[in-house]
Amino acid sequence: MAEKKGLLLCVCLGSCPSFSKMDIFEILNRARKEKLVDWVGIHPQLCADDGDEYLKALLSGAKTDKLYVAGCDPNMQRKMFRDAFEAAGFPRETHIGIEIRNLDTDGAYNAIKEAITRGE
Ligand code: SF4
Repeated sequence: MAEKKGLLLCVCLGSCPSFSKMDIFEILNRARKEKLVDWVGIHPQLCADDGDEYLKALLSGAKTDKLYVAGCDPNMQRKMFRDAFEAAGFPRETHIGIEIRNLDTDGAYNAIKEAITRGE
């Protein structure tokens, strides 16, 4: 069976200057058009309590073999999502963080595409 991959964008409430140079919908639409992953989504603040709930709800359902989260530093992501992954029974090594802060639309898309193509 083919590996199921998902891509989430997390954007620090959408008001943080680190994400102001990119068009997040354009990025996700490019990823959909090029079929980089099986599904895409956006959350404004995955590191908040309701972000934990979102991850738990999302990952306890249909199997996701690789979850790409484009947003802040991957090490920060690993620490912040650890409890939610554990609660969802989601193996943390199948989460791949991608740093896209301070990039423009092309830069962010290229960083995402590179990580997914490498299969990291
Ligand atoms: S998880 Fe990272 S990108 Fe998302 S809101 Fe928190 S600090 Fe910002």
